[in-house]
Amino acid sequence: MQTIVIGAGVLGAAIAFRLAQAGAQVTVLEAGRVGGGTSGTSFAWINSATGGVPPAYHALRIASMQAHAEVAAEFGGASWYHPTGGLKWAWPAELPALEANVAALQARGYAAEWIDRARLLAMEPDLDPVAIGDGPIAWFPEEGWLDPVPYAGAMVRAAQSLGAVLRTGARVAGMEMAGGRVTGVRLADGTRLAADCVVNCAGRWSDGLRPVPHVPLAPTVGFLVFTPPVAAGISHVLHAPEANLRPDGAGRLMLVWNDFAAGFSAETPPDPRLPEVQEMMQSVSRLIPSLAGLEAEAVRIGVRPLPRDGLSAIGPVPRTEGYYVAVTHSGVTLSPILARLVAAEVVRGEDRAELAEFRPARFFN
Ligand SMILES: Cc1cc2nc3c(=O)[nH]c(=O)nc-3n(C[C@H](O)[C@H](O)[C@H](O)COP(=O)(O)OP(=O)(O)OC[C@H]3O[C@@H](n4cnc5c(N)ncnc54)[C@H](O)[C@@H]3O)c2cc1C
Repeated sequence: MQTIVIGAGVLGAAIAFRLAQAGAQVTVLEAGRVGGGTSGTSFAWINSATGGVPPAYHALRIASMQAHAEVAAEFGGASWYHPTGGLKWAWPAELPALEANVAALQARGYAAEWIDRARLLAMEPDLDPVAIGDGPIAWFPEEGWLDPVPYAGAMVRAAQSLGAVLRTGARVAGMEMAGGRVTGVRLADGTRLAADCVVNCAGRWSDGLRPVPHVPLAPTVGFLVFTPPVAAGISHVLHAPEANLRPDGAGRLMLVWNDFAAGFSAETPPDPRLPEVQEMMQSVSRLIPSLAGLEAEAVRIGVRPLPRDGLSAIGPVPRTEGYYVAVTHSGVTLSPILARLVAAEVVRGEDRAELAEFRPARFFN
């Protein structure tokens, strides 16, 4: 079976690997570079920490947290996978909401417990105890984070080792159609490539391919700030009132505070001297005193590929044979489980119950 995967972010790369493993002939077409889309501007927290999401979405995320561990073992230990656990605390006014969320997660069997400040400081000795306050801290031991670009690179290499072909700098301009069927793609340079199935993993750009019907997206902008390398830092994913933050390798920390993103668009120049960036650095330095006086090293602005109803859109598109869409927010968390499920459907013709609530068809009825 000849398949084309459009896009080599965390989703396309992992799907290409599992398609190749299931016996398909795979060509990956990437307009830019592997992991150079949203996957390269992600907080990349592996979790299912929102208690109120639909049960099927929670179940998919839980399965994918486990799948990340399995992929890391499959690859003989994976430098991209950091199962550190996550920690969250709140100002007193927001504590009831955090308590309700933890209770909802525990009711679903999610690994979540309360710890005190002394235990947090044993795990994160460089935090300022005064800034933490003396409220309870939620500990999520099964969470972690991913280096999305090395992960995508490893998935593509694994696919290539099974015969897949990667073409970077290959922008798909449109679909080739015969009747109601997709028969291949046309590249921006005019090249035509045939396929039995085209899998659209183009993320926030997935709605730009014609003439196929597209999943409507409601993308949101995210704003990441990177510190220079610091000797005293953190080693878990932290959700503090000041910001969400995690290590980002070589002593750098990655900070994200969604409130700041409100005034930004994908076109905002990512300048570390923006007043909002300085404010964020100052705010976080109250929590981690070793950051005091440091300027941010870099800023990245990312756009989340969010289907309009906030849930993943995974599956065939009605009345369009030979075409399959995989677009989602939380793509970092969901990549390994979606890769397995998509390969089972595309290559083996299975109809996976885990994906029943996420079909693109819901947008076209
Ligand atoms: C600030 C921020 C924080 C986030 N935090 C988290 C988090 O904590 N946890 C989590 O799970 N998720 C998080 N996400 C979401 C997650 O990063 C995305 O869901 C995921 O990266 C999407 O991966 P993808 O492979 O679908 O898309 P992408 O990584 O965008 O890959 C799509 C690829 O398709 C290529 N492409 C596009 N059009 C074409 C074309 N016509 N022809 C060929 N190639 C094309 C692009 O170049 C790109 O490389 C976050 C996102 C942002 C922005």
